[in-house]
Amino acid sequence: MLSEAARCVKCGLCLAVCPTYRLGASETRSPRGRIALVQALSRRQLAVDDYCYEVLGSCLMCRRCEAVCPSEVPVGQLMDGGRELVRSRQGWKERLLIAMLSRRFWGRLLARTGRAVLSASAPKGKMLAQARFEAPALDEMHCPGGSDVLGRVGLFTGCTGSLFDGAALEGAIALLLQAGYAVRVPRNQVCCGALDAHGGNAARAARLLSANQAVFASAGELEAVLSIASGCGAHLAGYPALGKKHRDICTFLAQEQVISRLRFRPLEKRALVHLPCTLENVLHGAEAVLRLLRRIPGLQIEEAGKRGDCCGAGGTAFLLRPAMADSLRQPFVQRLGALAPDYVLSSNVSCRLHLQAGADAGAASYMHPVTLLARQLIRS
Ligand code: SF4
Ligand code: SF4
Repeated sequence: MLSEAARCVKCGLCLAVCPTYRLGASETRSPRGRIALVQALSRRQLAVDDYCYEVLGSCLMCRRCEAVCPSEVPVGQLMDGGRELVRSRQGWKERLLIAMLSRRFWGRLLARTGRAVLSASAPKGKMLAQARFEAPALDEMHCPGGSDVLGRVGLFTGCTGSLFDGAALEGAIALLLQAGYAVRVPRNQVCCGALDAHGGNAARAARLLSANQAVFASAGELEAVLSIASGCGAHLAGYPALGKKHRDICTFLAQEQVISRLRFRPLEKRALVHLPCTLENVLHGAEAVLRLLRRIPGLQIEEAGKRGDCCGAGGTAFLLRPAMADSLRQPFVQRLGALAPDYVLSSNVSCRLHLQAGADAGAASYMHPVTLLARQLIRS
């Protein structure tokens, strides 16, 4: 960890893009400030305390700093390592949230009880009331009709994705089948491990990764393993064993040989597209999402925010650090109010729930881009 941290030359080029630095212009809450903290903690020059935990915990893991860093410092990896050093200060709420969200059974229970208890309170109650909880019962194998099979892919469902975004999983399967791909959805796949890695529990994150590697290795020859949620995708892409096969669903569908097989019904509506930090900075999939959506005739597409701005959801930050998350969301909420779109589309379920909770009640439908694409798909 220290050798990676040493690559930071403290040039400060990353300050302008860091959302937490921009909020308060505090050097401590900048990428280089956090890296310096990780260095001091690793060398035992500083004792672990609640302040260290808060400084590292408030990083949104947006990785915008990595995108502009001339030294290619792996800031996300350093933040995961730093959080491991300060994990003794992690509060029970955060531990419980990570433990429950990353286990499907407990996640469902949390979602249901949370909905019942919080339905009267805003904004968490509003967020929970709007979320869809039921995971669809997906078959393990989906085969395209006809003999023109282009290939075979695996689908990574993700724990929060299968909990809150069943429509996107079903939509992804419909699009892939129409394009001529057989889709394998292994039942015994587990959480990607991002929540644990970002929560400082590297050991559990590694166990989850090994379990998923074994599951997809035994699923037969697969051209790619596709993920739906950009947060899961960004984590999976960082690990070579699964990473070499991993692709984001939209970057896969936007390839010419795939997209050319898909036709869509016209839709005379306006869509506001939110491009999550993980999609833009790590998966480099923003253009693929826009390219796919432009295939729907008549759909007016506008971006939900200025490129480079973070909505503040940041994994679990919107639940654990609501004041910071709400401040960062404000420009997006204003734009949503001004443009009054019919659809708000985002590849990250946390971002989508966070935006929806902050927006005034309106007619907009919030969904993953593949959900809208699947709705407009002309099926043969
Ligand atoms: S993280 Fe990169 S951009 Fe930021 S101060 Fe260090 S070297 Fe410069
Ligand atoms: S990952 Fe994002 S929030 Fe964290 S230090 Fe980098 S730019 Fe700032």
